Order: sequence, then C-alpha cells, then structure tokens
Amino acid sequence: MDLIFLGPPGAGKGTQAKAIIDKFGIPQISTGDIIRAAIRDGSELGKEFKSYTDKGALVPDELVVRMVQDRLAKDDCKPGFLLDGFPRTLAQAEALDELLKGMGRGLDHVLLLDVADEVLVDRITGRRSDPETGRVYHIKFNPPPADVADRCIQRSDDTEEVLKKRLDEYHAKTAPLIPYYEKAGLLRNIDGTGTPEEIRERIFKVFA
Ligand code: AMP
Repeated sequence: MDLIFLGPPGAGKGTQAKAIIDKFGIPQISTGDIIRAAIRDGSELGKEFKSYTDKGALVPDELVVRMVQDRLAKDDCKPGFLLDGFPRTLAQAEALDELLKGMGRGLDHVLLLDVADEVLVDRITGRRSDPETGRVYHIKFNPPPADVADRCIQRSDDTEEVLKKRLDEYHAKTAPLIPYYEKAGLLRNIDGTGTPEEIRERIFKVFA
C-alpha cells in the first residue's frame, strides 16, 4: 500500500499515521522527522536544514527528494509506505512519480486531511512532545500525564509567528498538489476536524 498523507501543518497527520502503518505493516516516512534528526546530529547538512526550518521555509526540493529516494530504497518499504510531509511542491510530486515509476510501483491513495487555518493555529501552538518517547500531546486537548509534563518540549517552529509562514508556504506551494492528485484520481478528501477517533474512522473508510 503506497500512500501519501497530505494536509497543512497541524492537520493531524502524525497523530493518525500510527493506526495506518499498523494496519498495513508499512513504515511512516516523515521528511520533517528526518530533517529534525539531521539538525540534532549537528552535521553540515543539518545546519543548512535549520536555516530553512527556523524560518518556516521549505527545504530545497533536490535535498528532500534525494532523502526520500534513499529512504524508499530500504527493504522495509517493500510492502508499501506512508509519506508524511512529502511531497510539498509540484516539483517534488513529479520527482516522486518518476521515482516510483522507476521502481515499478505507483501510489494507491493520497489522503488529504482538511482543516481550516483558524483551527490549526490553536492545535499547533499548544503542541508539545516528549523527547524520550516521541509522543505528541496538546496542552488543552490532550495534556501529557503529570510525570511526563515537565520534560515535554515545544518544537521551535511551532510558534504563532513561524506557523504563519508555514501556512503561507502550504497554501502557495503545497495546495497545488490537491488538483494534481485529483486529476490523477488518487485524492481522498477527509474532514480533519473532530476527535482523533472520528477522524480515524473517516480515514479507514477509504480502505474499506
Ligand atoms: P513538518 O514536520 O512536516 O511540519 O516539517 C517541518 C519543516 O521541515 C518544514 O517547515 C520544512 O522546513 C521542512 N520540510 C519537511 N518536509 C519537507 C518537504 N517535503 N519539502 C521541503 N521542506 C520540508
């Protein structure tokens, strides 16, 4: 099952990914996670990435495409994959099409989690994660347990100011992927508002 998870920052892609990857036994490939890991490593490439993520700007296509190409070649992607946060530009989508064609495979579904900008601001600015487990919480909607709360951290790009730029990037560069995949007959529109359980049910209807 070759899947893309499309949607603005804070739409709930990360939260919903777990159930999907468990169902199909496929890996979640989050370019944002790979980029953050490179930044933590402190490599030259990581430093370059940070200069973009700090501003809420997109990392150049060539770098991200190469990263995804290397990741898709790994054995665990044989049964499929869930791409989360990639592609984010038309150039990335076209590069992915070529890449998959070369591997003799193709996308099954592009899941679009649809959420209004006003809701995203609330979701993102309240987002906190536990660096030890990687679990993501929300100070209002899904608070961390008391013994975890103190060590939870906020992503440096989850501030209102950087989020505004990330949303601008989404509308300008990523939203054009919606008609692109619609034309290809791959787009599955999912209402991303409601409880995580309600949203999961809507997603699973796509696979029914
Ligand atoms: P995310 O965790 O998906 O919100 O990504 C965090 C940041 O990493 C983004 O704001 C971008 O700076 C960068 N990034 C992640 N995925 C991509 C991508 N496919 N293309 C360009 N930049 C990306």
